[in-house]
Amino acid sequence: MRLVIKYGGTSISTAKDIHLISKHLNILSKKHRIVVVCSATSETTDDLLGISESIKKENKSAAELLASKIINRHKQLAKQTVKKIDVRKKLLVKLDKDFAELLALIDGMVLLGEVTPRTMDYLISFGERLSISLVSSAINDLGVKSIPLTGKDVGIVTDSNFGESKPLMDTTRLRVSKTVDALFLKKTIPVVGGFAGADQHGHVTTFGRGGSDYSSTIVGSCIKADEIWLMSDVNGLMTADPKIVKNAKLLKEVSYVEAIEMALFGAKQIHPRTFEPLVAKKIPIKIRSSFEVKNEGTLVTASTSSSVKNTVKCVSNVRNNGLIDIRGGSMIGTPGTAAKIFATLAKAGINVMMISQNPSESSITIVVKNTDLDKAVSVLELELLGKIIKKLEVTIDVAIIALIGSGMRGTVGVASKVFRAIEKNKINISMITQGSSELNLAFIVKNSDTNSAVRALHRAFALDKIN
Ligand code: ASP
Ligand code: MG
Repeated sequence: MRLVIKYGGTSISTAKDIHLISKHLNILSKKHRIVVVCSATSETTDDLLGISESIKKENKSAAELLASKIINRHKQLAKQTVKKIDVRKKLLVKLDKDFAELLALIDGMVLLGEVTPRTMDYLISFGERLSISLVSSAINDLGVKSIPLTGKDVGIVTDSNFGESKPLMDTTRLRVSKTVDALFLKKTIPVVGGFAGADQHGHVTTFGRGGSDYSSTIVGSCIKADEIWLMSDVNGLMTADPKIVKNAKLLKEVSYVEAIEMALFGAKQIHPRTFEPLVAKKIPIKIRSSFEVKNEGTLVTASTSSSVKNTVKCVSNVRNNGLIDIRGGSMIGTPGTAAKIFATLAKAGINVMMISQNPSESSITIVVKNTDLDKAVSVLELELLGKIIKKLEVTIDVAIIALIGSGMRGTVGVASKVFRAIEKNKINISMITQGSSELNLAFIVKNSDTNSAVRALHRAFALDKIN
């Protein structure tokens, strides 16, 4: 099989864990052709973002302090991970080169006193540049051939939309397949840096936070992989948060669309565009743990087999949100009201998580994160109160409870089952949404009612017996 195996930061952040994965890769490489994709080690991308923040604040010493934190972390890991003296020496020389480039970049940015999207991408791509050298050397240490390649090296070409770039798939496909096939012929395992590529001018670009998942499916699609494995510290997708529901089950199989919905809410965050490159080729993904390799994890496919088409697959929850009820007589029958409200929020950079409007059009209710609430209310007051809005009513500390499963589509009685279960537990619902795709039914309760709502629904739909 042709396999792309992607590791999240938590799987490669101690010498012990890097040993574990390189041994696993060694065994797999005897049977399969593997491309490895790596995230940055834990905290590294955050530290790089911290460096850019410090530069913006003209705090050079804070930026340098963070850089030395990153440098020490990787030096330490290199020394602890690689045993063979020659392999270790080569790794340290390579890392030193990257460290020097990082420090020079920081100096340059400090001198200019500005952080452009382009320099920012160049800066934050360093996390993966460092992690791939570590992982690749750990594989070499076992006597297996491997080389580290950045997204740019392997041939991922993107547009120039820094911070949120998209791959130019035709060019990328040609380049990536050529690079990888040549390495396969030489029995060398490529360890590719996730998160980044380069535009047509060779400037480094990134895909946005969590973008290594996306890198792995881009590469997978280019090399016509048979499977893509996303390895992290979770065993797969679950029917509910196991901290809330004791008998929550690992889901054996879900579809791409269900996985996207679940990833937005669940413990395993997946980059939202991850499945895009796969839709045409229908390559299956497995979400697995790098610590429990015997566990098969969750299989994500273009469409799930009929045996696992349960109506509802999981109950997710997101706490700590705020609800804003926007009212105003002049909203009724006035085209453009919603557009004005959402444009105002968008301009302020506020992400709206849920929306509902009643048919009388006298109110629109939205849900945002608690942390965005103040800003949302103040921009709406400032720009629209007294004009199209008469009154804003705010509720803090609410939770979104969402039922996910494509089997809900066209199934009669799901909603009544949901609300009966909730009613029995004397929980009040303050907002409900269901998209017409019927993939997701979500409603709002008080934070403090989250656990009982999730448990009630898990029970009502017998999700402990799902597989
Ligand atoms: N290192 C990047 C981030 O932390 C990309 C990734 O982890 O997938 O967002
Ligand atoms: Mg990550």
